[in-house]
Amino acid sequence: MRYFETHTHYNEDVYKDNLEEVLKKARDVNVDKFVNVGYNKEASIKSIELADKYDDFYAAIGVHPHDVDNDTAQDIYDIYSKNKGKKIVAIGEIGFDFAYVKDNKDNQKKLFIEQIELANTLKLPILIHSRDASLETYNTLKEKRAEARNFVSLFSTK
Ligand SMILES: [Zn+2]
Repeated sequence: MRYFETHTHYNEDVYKDNLEEVLKKARDVNVDKFVNVGYNKEASIKSIELADKYDDFYAAIGVHPHDVDNDTAQDIYDIYSKNKGKKIVAIGEIGFDFAYVKDNKDNQKKLFIEQIELANTLKLPILIHSRDASLETYNTLKEKRAEARNFVSLFSTK
């Protein structure tokens, strides 16, 4: 069996000294592809760098609700624009997180919708983060559809 790891954060400092070793272990047990998922500007840029460095890596770029006060959908658009043609396969992770902060629901929703619109403009799928926010996530997606229909095939037919 081959595996496709759809949600990694190998950009994080905890992997600074052992990333090659961790990736070797994963590849040794048939993990063929990885999507490194961004959650703010810096992590999104690092996701693209990983996709540049490794043939089996792809990048998702986006602003997680925790970073709603720091980064914007425009930041993600700018990152995308500077990296056209690279292996950016999704906008994410985006959505709601009410586990720790509940008093900024409106801002989280605005950022989520802006990033869904960005994904629609770029014809990319979205990767959703939803913690303690199932209903809000569902209602928002009813209100603002994610439209990507051109799913990227990450596996060759060989
Ligand atoms: Zn994540």
